[in-house]
Amino acid sequence: MLAADFSAFGDAARRCMAAGCTWLHIDVMDGHFVPNLTFGAPLVKALRAREVDAILDVHLMVSEPEKWIQPFRDAGADALTIHAEATTHLHRVLQQIRASGALCGVALNPATPISVLEHVGDMLDIVLVMTVNPGFGGQRFIPAAAEKVSQLAEWREVNQLQFRISVDGGVDAANIRSLVADGASILVAGSSVFGHADGVTGGVDALNRALEP
Ligand code: ZN
Repeated sequence: MLAADFSAFGDAARRCMAAGCTWLHIDVMDGHFVPNLTFGAPLVKALRAREVDAILDVHLMVSEPEKWIQPFRDAGADALTIHAEATTHLHRVLQQIRASGALCGVALNPATPISVLEHVGDMLDIVLVMTVNPGFGGQRFIPAAAEKVSQLAEWREVNQLQFRISVDGGVDAANIRSLVADGASILVAGSSVFGHADGVTGGVDALNRALEP
C-alpha cells in the first residue's frame, strides 16, 4: 500500500482486493529505524473496518518494535513482521507476536544474512526478504538479495520448518516467476501494481500472467 495514493487509500485497497489480491501489505516506518515516516495503527484500524476479508500484513520498519505489537494487533493486523536489527531481544519480541495471535515474521535487509534466524526458525510464519533497502517505495530490485529466497527454501527443508517466504521491493512481471520458482509465496508489489498504465487491475493481471505456465 506504500505505492497507493494516500489521499484515496480506501479506494486503493478496494481496487487491490477486486483485482484478486488477498493480502494487503502495510509498510510502517518510524523515521528512526528507516529515514522516512509513513503511517501507524489508526490506518490499519481503518483498513480493517473496510476490508474485512483482507489479510493485513504489517511490516514494522521501526525501532523497538516491542512497543508496537499490541497496538497494531488491536488495530486488526493479521501478520506482524519485524526487522532482526530493530531489537536487541529478537526471540522475546517474536514470542510477544505469537502470544498476540498474529502471524509472526522477521524481515531481512539486503545485507542481513539468513543466519540471524538460526535459533528462531520454528517461531516463524513468515520470513520477508527485502530486495531493496527499506525506507522508500519505487526502488530498483537488488538481484543479490533475492538469492536468499532459494537459500531460505533450502534451509527450511533441511530443518523441516514451516514459514512462508515473502519478497518485498521491486517485485514486477519480469522477476516474479523466478522468485516463485525459488520458493517465495508472498509477493509484495507496490509500484508495479499502482504505477501500471492500466491501473491496479492491469498491474495485478500482468503479475498473474507472468506466473502462468
Ligand atoms: Zn514492506
